[in-house]
Amino acid sequence: MNGQTVMACIDAAYASLKEHTDEIALLDQQIGDGDHIFNLLRGMEALLAVRAEIEAEAFGPALDIAASKVLSTVGGSSGPLFFSLLNGMSKASAENVMDVAGFARIFAGGVEAVGQRGKTGVGSKTMMDVLIPVAKRYDECVSQGASAQAVLDALPQVAEDNMLATRDMLATKGRASFLGERSRGHIDPGARSSQIMIASVCARLKAEA
Ligand code: ADP
Ligand code: MG
Repeated sequence: MNGQTVMACIDAAYASLKEHTDEIALLDQQIGDGDHIFNLLRGMEALLAVRAEIEAEAFGPALDIAASKVLSTVGGSSGPLFFSLLNGMSKASAENVMDVAGFARIFAGGVEAVGQRGKTGVGSKTMMDVLIPVAKRYDECVSQGASAQAVLDALPQVAEDNMLATRDMLATKGRASFLGERSRGHIDPGARSSQIMIASVCARLKAEA
């Protein structure tokens, strides 16, 4: 895991988000203001523009560069939240080795930082409804001694199941919460974009392992 791996994951996430632009735009039009995917794509494109800088660094510093670019280019609520994810992972990477177990703690550190920033956990119909169960399952996989391949096989399904579960939830955080009961019946756009990024990053890492 180094800056080149980080950039390969960004490439994979960007390609997959781009494919789902219309779908995610529609989700955010239904329960938000429609900007979520465009915020994200702008941020990802800013990361692609500093490819050489990111690729030249070790894992933690590469994530740091990505985090500050995301903060300065992704608007909306999700900009500071994705900054927190990357920054939290970067900080946790200083205290953990880059093996299957270490990376579980690094990811959990990022998710924890998002929780602190957004002041929410599971059940409020946000990206946290995907991020927390994925971190939890990853931790369980580590406890069971699972291999990297087994983890990369398990996590996309957890992300998808929990993304789909946001459809019936009542939004109690963010813009969608203004809709009250009318927020039910629509998948949360941030849950969908997070799930897409997790699936594409896992597929990319699996191909590399
Ligand atoms: P905005 O709602 O300001 O337009 P975006 O459209 O970029 O921001 O992002 C909306 C997404 O942000 C939501 O779909 C949800 O997943 C996520 N979100 C909103 N508030 C929070 C929060 N407090 N904690 C975690 N995620 C949140
Ligand atoms: Mg929005």
